[in-house]
Amino acid sequence: MSGTYVRADLLATALGGTAGEAPMSRYRITLGDSRIEMEEGIPFLKVGNDVVPLLLPPLRSGRTFLVPYQVATSVIPKFATGFNYDLAAGELRIFNTAARRVVETPPAPSSTGPTVLPSIGPNTSAPNRARRTQRRLIVVDAGHGGVDPGMRGPIGDGPRIVEKNVTLAVARLVAQELRNSGVDVLMTRTTDTLIALSDRGRIANRNKGDLFVSVHVNATGARGSAGARERGYETYFLAEAKTEEASRVERMENEAVKFETGADAPKGDPLSFIINDMAQNEHLRESNDLAETIQSGFRSFHPGKDRGVQQANFAVLRGSYMPAVLVEIGFGTNPSEAAYLLDPDNQRTIAASIARGVMEYISHYDARIGAGGR
Ligand SMILES: [Zn+2]
Repeated sequence: MSGTYVRADLLATALGGTAGEAPMSRYRITLGDSRIEMEEGIPFLKVGNDVVPLLLPPLRSGRTFLVPYQVATSVIPKFATGFNYDLAAGELRIFNTAARRVVETPPAPSSTGPTVLPSIGPNTSAPNRARRTQRRLIVVDAGHGGVDPGMRGPIGDGPRIVEKNVTLAVARLVAQELRNSGVDVLMTRTTDTLIALSDRGRIANRNKGDLFVSVHVNATGARGSAGARERGYETYFLAEAKTEEASRVERMENEAVKFETGADAPKGDPLSFIINDMAQNEHLRESNDLAETIQSGFRSFHPGKDRGVQQANFAVLRGSYMPAVLVEIGFGTNPSEAAYLLDPDNQRTIAASIARGVMEYISHYDARIGAGGR
């Protein structure tokens, strides 16, 4: 778990401060006159009167208290006096003068609300800087395929929907729209075939993709008529699953692993895998931005409700070392939404919106990089 967490006591000591247990089972880091307090398992911390959301909750391991790397890269420089995180060098620096914040920190994305994620480590910017002047490569992933049909619906009467067919149809249209917009596209599959989840990310990496977009159809976890009523669209980016609902969708999408056999099937604890996976974490903020842009594009046309941007630990996203999102374009379990998703015109609208979201994200990104002067 060393990748994205640091020991609070070592961090505090390195910065000339102290750390230790505080009342109410809290843990406290004291740096000069700043007090940072947090609790195990709670993804927030307090600095004075400010409450700061954390990407990952602090952890306890025996007497050791672990804080997400974000505390070093973003929280301490922002709230404690006299510290700065140098993105280029990947160092937390101590200043004794008013010259703090001389090192440029990336502007917070405006639309992400309280879940703004910090950039971590030196290579935080994505899409890949080196490719900036080249054509972008977007990896478009049609969920499921082959012996893995994904979800089937709807509950009750209505046209039958099979997720793998809808995701392929929509993914093809997304690819077409993106190519028309002047970017290169790689599809993880173009036929009804099963690509192992771990391979989808690997395909993206091997081809040096800049962004990864996976298309899926959602299914309710509820039964009967209550389940059939559930509808709407949501966009996920990679992170530890936060809500119970996100965990449920994550389990459902990761189920495809059971169709995979042999050496390619992912092994081990997925959480430790992600926590050790720094390269992916560097792209969390970018993935969040991309997810927000795609999600907000659906508002103007989608008949279902806006279920928001979610975080989850999807195996399909985990293997991609680039900003990566998974779009659940609607609930195939809801009869009217199933009918909506099966309509080719609606598939075109959905695909165009995803493609527009990607292009919008890229131009935001370029504007930010241009303004940042890197
Ligand atoms: Zn799916």
